[in-house]
Amino acid sequence: LNTKAALDLSTSDQLFTRAQHHIPGGVNSPVRAFRAVGGHPVFMQSAKGAWLTDVDGNKYLDFINSWGPMILGHAPDIVVDAVRKAAGDSLSFGAPTRREVEMAELIKKMVPSIEKVRLVNSGTEATMSAIRVARGYTGRDKIIKFEGCYHGHGDSFLIAAGSGALTLGAPDSPGVTQGVALDTLTAPYNDLEATERLILANEGQVAALILEPVVGNMGLVAPAEGYLQGLRELCTQHGIVLIFDEVMTGFRLARGGAQELFGVTPDMTTLGKIIGGGMPVGAYGGRQDIMDQVAPAGKVYQAGTLSGNPIATAAGIAQLTYLQEHPELYTELDRITARLADGTRQICADLGLNYTVNRVGSMFSVFFTDQPVRNLDEAKTSDTEAFGRYFRAMLNRGIYLAPALYEALFISTSMTDELVDQYLTACRESMIEAHGL
Ligand code: PMP
Repeated sequence: LNTKAALDLSTSDQLFTRAQHHIPGGVNSPVRAFRAVGGHPVFMQSAKGAWLTDVDGNKYLDFINSWGPMILGHAPDIVVDAVRKAAGDSLSFGAPTRREVEMAELIKKMVPSIEKVRLVNSGTEATMSAIRVARGYTGRDKIIKFEGCYHGHGDSFLIAAGSGALTLGAPDSPGVTQGVALDTLTAPYNDLEATERLILANEGQVAALILEPVVGNMGLVAPAEGYLQGLRELCTQHGIVLIFDEVMTGFRLARGGAQELFGVTPDMTTLGKIIGGGMPVGAYGGRQDIMDQVAPAGKVYQAGTLSGNPIATAAGIAQLTYLQEHPELYTELDRITARLADGTRQICADLGLNYTVNRVGSMFSVFFTDQPVRNLDEAKTSDTEAFGRYFRAMLNRGIYLAPALYEALFISTSMTDELVDQYLTACRESMIEAHGL
């Protein structure tokens, strides 16, 4: 690992200068720009296992893992081999293929609440499509989402949105029409009574309630005991389609995602990230009577030139099959991530900082506050300046964290006990440096 002497990032800096002339903000997705932490983003060259190498040759222990997809670490042989093999046969047909059927069968096996599934190209497409289907199915217009949850950049979801929208101070984006915004109702996360009041005030008008069953986009926030069950009951009672957005949590918190971990069955599920093994893939699925509304079976239109792409399905099948056949890896991910999270909490306690560290399975985040964090308001009590200093100190030590507070960290099976020890050493030094202790 690097020492705390500043890294040579000259090639990254040159590329970023060029990028800013041609790409808005110099990046193709906002949080990559390091706006929240200062400095320029690091441009990456290659990655293997737990390690990233940037364009200047610096190496970093990766805690982002492409924001979730790389659960087996970077460039696992089984996935890369499958992609290489598939590429020779054609990069796209725009016609049905065998792998799409195999992929659907595999998804259904792993996530039993899904009776039918449609493949798309991103998590955003999955959530946008899911609410259209829920609206078509119920004949209602409104949806309920939760403050600080992020469901991609579809218009309906950029209301009180989390992740990059929150980091950049634009949780309600310009460009979303008032009409669309009026159809998105919001409630605080982990507050069943507030949600019930909202439903009663809009009785018979709410098509869908969508949430991250474990939130990764305001930092990591777990559902309170009974919360998911309570939402399930409310939705059943009021004829609302319950959508679990498992783009982050699907195949990560368990083979069957958060719904398996917490034993609550949604009507629809949206998936992304891990399902593509790093290729651009998303999916939405659920109850057969709902999914049969989708064209050409039904009248709700949704389509895609590259949907079910042969390379993406090859990568997805390879990664999902591995997860399906190795349930023991979830136990190990849980153990190793507990070491990271508990170790970080202990370091903060030793230093008198008492920061809140939330963890579920292989996702965790450090909130720079001593308050418990169960919703967006509590997440916002974090000290963003101190986080920025900590982020830079960690980067200088070769630890690549998410460059924003309101994000979860994702751990892969490439994380070893030795690497945990290296992280914890860097964490202690960086916490000391960031707080001038
Ligand atoms: N839903 C959730 C829960 C997400 O975390 C994300 C992306 N981080 C999305 C949807 C959107 O996925 P994508 O970025 O692939 O469009």
